[in-house]
Amino acid sequence: MKLKLTLLSTLILIGSLAKAQDSLMIRKIYDEELVNGQCYSNLHYLCKNIGQRISGSANAQKAVEWGKKLMESYGFDKVYLQPVMVPHWVRGAKEEGAIIKGDKKISVHIAALGMTVATPKNGLTAPIIEVQSLKELETLGAGVIKGKIVFFNRPFDPRFIETLRAYGTAGDQRFAGPAAAAKYGAAGVIVRSLTETLDFYPHTGATSYTKDGVNIPAAAISTKDANTLSAMLKMKSLPAVKFYFKQNCELLPDAPSFNVVGEMTGSENPNKFITVGGHLDSWDLAEGAHDDGTGVMQSVEALRLLKVMGYKPKNSIRAVFFINEENGDRGGIKYAELADQNKEEHIAAIESDLGGFTPRGFTFEGISPARIEKISSNWSKLLAPYGSGVLTAGGGGSDIGPLAEKSKGVVLIGYMPDSQRYFDVHHTPNDVFENVNKRELELGAASMASLMYLIDQHGLN
Ligand SMILES: [Zn+2]
Repeated sequence: MKLKLTLLSTLILIGSLAKAQDSLMIRKIYDEELVNGQCYSNLHYLCKNIGQRISGSANAQKAVEWGKKLMESYGFDKVYLQPVMVPHWVRGAKEEGAIIKGDKKISVHIAALGMTVATPKNGLTAPIIEVQSLKELETLGAGVIKGKIVFFNRPFDPRFIETLRAYGTAGDQRFAGPAAAAKYGAAGVIVRSLTETLDFYPHTGATSYTKDGVNIPAAAISTKDANTLSAMLKMKSLPAVKFYFKQNCELLPDAPSFNVVGEMTGSENPNKFITVGGHLDSWDLAEGAHDDGTGVMQSVEALRLLKVMGYKPKNSIRAVFFINEENGDRGGIKYAELADQNKEEHIAAIESDLGGFTPRGFTFEGISPARIEKISSNWSKLLAPYGSGVLTAGGGGSDIGPLAEKSKGVVLIGYMPDSQRYFDVHHTPNDVFENVNKRELELGAASMASLMYLIDQHGLN
């Protein structure tokens, strides 16, 4: 049979051959990961042999050194550190908290918010007032607030399907609540933990003071204790409810630290980069398994997968372990500064920092809806069989955010896993290795490697 090829049918043929090739490559990436994956055992090492690694700590330094060795063992073309000074906040002795009514004292579970100050040595006891929002605080004003402990108690809105959105809308109480309450003369702040789960884990996390404001002590309280406190406040019977808490945290001088970078040099465009990363630092209450041990281990795994498969990237591809995402973002800022200084052109940066749960897809930031639609129509089908086919508009990530300013044209991409369980463990003593599922973690790493491959082959235009 004679085959007549018009120009159009030739193009269609070439297109479908490329798709078949992409589809085959992605299958191979998943096969390699699911049979020979290393990210789970690497995560085990990070969590169990190093553990919590808050910026400036000896453990953070251990994690940097181990991370560099790990990357070197994979034989990437370049492995190096990017020095950066980071805040050095320490929690000190374990906090105490209690609801006081007359001579009744009910102990509660609290954790100092990151970057906050200590209470007086013997703790702080004061009348406590519940508010639902910063707006309500403003309405009450100094007349009511002065000298009191402010209790921010607005819960997560359960109607959001993506829990990150609930976090986003409740989060102002933690990020900005203490500074706002200080403005009206509050003595301290207690914030309902940012989670939809009812349990006794306090969820820490950073807050920020204003430069010219007074720094008052602030802590998160577990959701169950928050409910008890709220119920007691509603009783309105005398004597009035007071709150006691004691925390011993301290902000030490900035400490030296590093981002860890591994790179495979591009064969066609060595100065164009596709970066994948997560943050190496974690809060100090647990092992930082989901936040963000999974993200860093998936990132280096994505690069390792392409390397062991003998893939020769056209553009340079990088895995980055950013430092200090949790309480300063200094690593992300430094990375963007250096990219600018070194005149590197970033095509895309992908961040995994929403936990190591079942992949759903990726969110794209800083590009037009039309381009996202085009990307989705080309690649969704390739990733959908692996559960990662949702390619949609949304945030990139804190560490890669600063690149948007410094590297023109970069597309920021967030790895999007299922979000339903993230805030069960986020910033709590429960963020441990045992709560990470091996297959979910591996599927995520393979999806990140696949996306890197597609971007390297076809670009994002
Ligand atoms: Zn994180």
